[in-house]
Amino acid sequence: VPELPEVQTIVNDLQKIVGDEITGFFSNWTKALKNTDIKKLNSRIRGKKIISIERIGKNILMGLSGKIFLLIHLRMTGKLLAVERETRNVERKNNKHLHHVFYLRTTNHELRTLEFHDIRKFATITFVDVKNLEDLKSKIGADPLDNSLTLANFTGAILKKPQKKIKEILMDQELISGIGNIYASEILFNANISPIRKAKSLGRIEIKSLFRNTKKVLNKAIKMRGTSISDYRDARGKKGQFQNHLKVYKRHGQKCKKCDTIIRKSIIGQRSTFYCPKCQK
Ligand SMILES: [Zn+2]
Repeated sequence: VPELPEVQTIVNDLQKIVGDEITGFFSNWTKALKNTDIKKLNSRIRGKKIISIERIGKNILMGLSGKIFLLIHLRMTGKLLAVERETRNVERKNNKHLHHVFYLRTTNHELRTLEFHDIRKFATITFVDVKNLEDLKSKIGADPLDNSLTLANFTGAILKKPQKKIKEILMDQELISGIGNIYASEILFNANISPIRKAKSLGRIEIKSLFRNTKKVLNKAIKMRGTSISDYRDARGKKGQFQNHLKVYKRHGQKCKKCDTIIRKSIIGQRSTFYCPKCQK
């Protein structure tokens, strides 16, 4: 499942299509379209220019001319591929996981395509106008990589749900955005904090360490272009490399890289959690 580093990598790769004009849009899985239908969406976005592509939490926000936006959530298996030519109809038909296609024209009048593949078909494309953009942003929690996020804000976010376990807090998109199961496990290992601790039990120094390690782990993962454990690929179709640097995630039964204790797996909030019982207190 793409988390902050994977989505950021895709967003970085997609900067090259900023400035392109959308010449058409195709979809054979219109259930993915929210707040619009295929006919309306086509008439709304055809001829529009892509003004910006940014990340909000685990979402991709595509800003178009005319102050309209498309919010893309990749969910389980969504994949965006920027292809340097026009994807032909026959290729589209032969690729059963290719469900949406944005046809593009570059400023040099060359044709290219943004292909949206999705095996499980949970990904969504939401039409957003400038009026509901702020409303939407207000429902997404603080971004851990936002430079304006202070330790005080971070502490405030964590302590909003004091009874909840810290692992669940880190993954709560309304409190802190972008972190999922992989990075929550890795951040807590790096901060030496047990995933089952309640938020209110954390001391000031522990929260500071959590704050620092959240940024550190996410930044390192972006540098490695994300984690490709299942089917994540970047916008060029290539794997990330952070799976080679994981310390606890899916390493249960193996030795801790710091202390040789066997890494354990348990279930927290219906999600598998991986931790070192000795390093994490
Ligand atoms: Zn250990």
